[in-house]
Amino acid sequence: MIIALDGPAAAGKGTLARSIAKDMDLAYLDTGSLYRATGVAVLQAGKDPADPTAAEAAARGLDPLAIDPVAIRTEAAGLAASKVSAIPAVRAALLDLQRTFARTPPGGKKGAVLDGRDIGTVVCPDAQVKIFVTASLEERSKRRVLELRAKGETVIEARVFADMAARDAADSNRAASPLKPADDAFVLDTTALDAAGALAAAKAFIESRLK
Ligand code: C5P
Repeated sequence: MIIALDGPAAAGKGTLARSIAKDMDLAYLDTGSLYRATGVAVLQAGKDPADPTAAEAAARGLDPLAIDPVAIRTEAAGLAASKVSAIPAVRAALLDLQRTFARTPPGGKKGAVLDGRDIGTVVCPDAQVKIFVTASLEERSKRRVLELRAKGETVIEARVFADMAARDAADSNRAASPLKPADDAFVLDTTALDAAGALAAAKAFIESRLK
């Protein structure tokens, strides 16, 4: 059982993926964390995240069990992730890791939930359930501002909005595995939904798929 959740930043896929995994007792992989950790590793090495050689080396050397959960959550890490993720050799280096997790979930779980940008289209095109989670840019930007403020960061709303628009454009327009819904994905717009509403809509779709 593989459930693929894709969509742009701050659409609510992480929260939704975690809830589905808990609810159905499945393993969960946040694939964005792999790209973020790769971006952070390049920055820590004093290199440019857009440098293919440095980025591929960081991706190949990545230990998923040693990812620093705090360091990967900054806006700088998100932007670095977006740059390394456009490099095909980085995507290739992280592909096996993601597929192995999906096919042989850790902890003896009977399946896995993966969230990212290309899970339904590239990583697990054979997933039984594919959901494309989205929301308006205004709403996603508002959510990100609240998230950053809750962490005590000083944020300029217009800057968060512009960064998010730039990341959307980069993720959607890159040649390597661009962000787009799989043909057989259910598009879930969470603009007007809270977490409970999004979970209810996702569960209704999952149940209809598994019947
Ligand atoms: O989901 P999150 O915002 O943490 O992802 C950070 C960045 O990693 C995204 O903007 C995207 O560029 C990249 N990413 C990707 N493919 C995935 C997951 C994330 O390209 N499956």
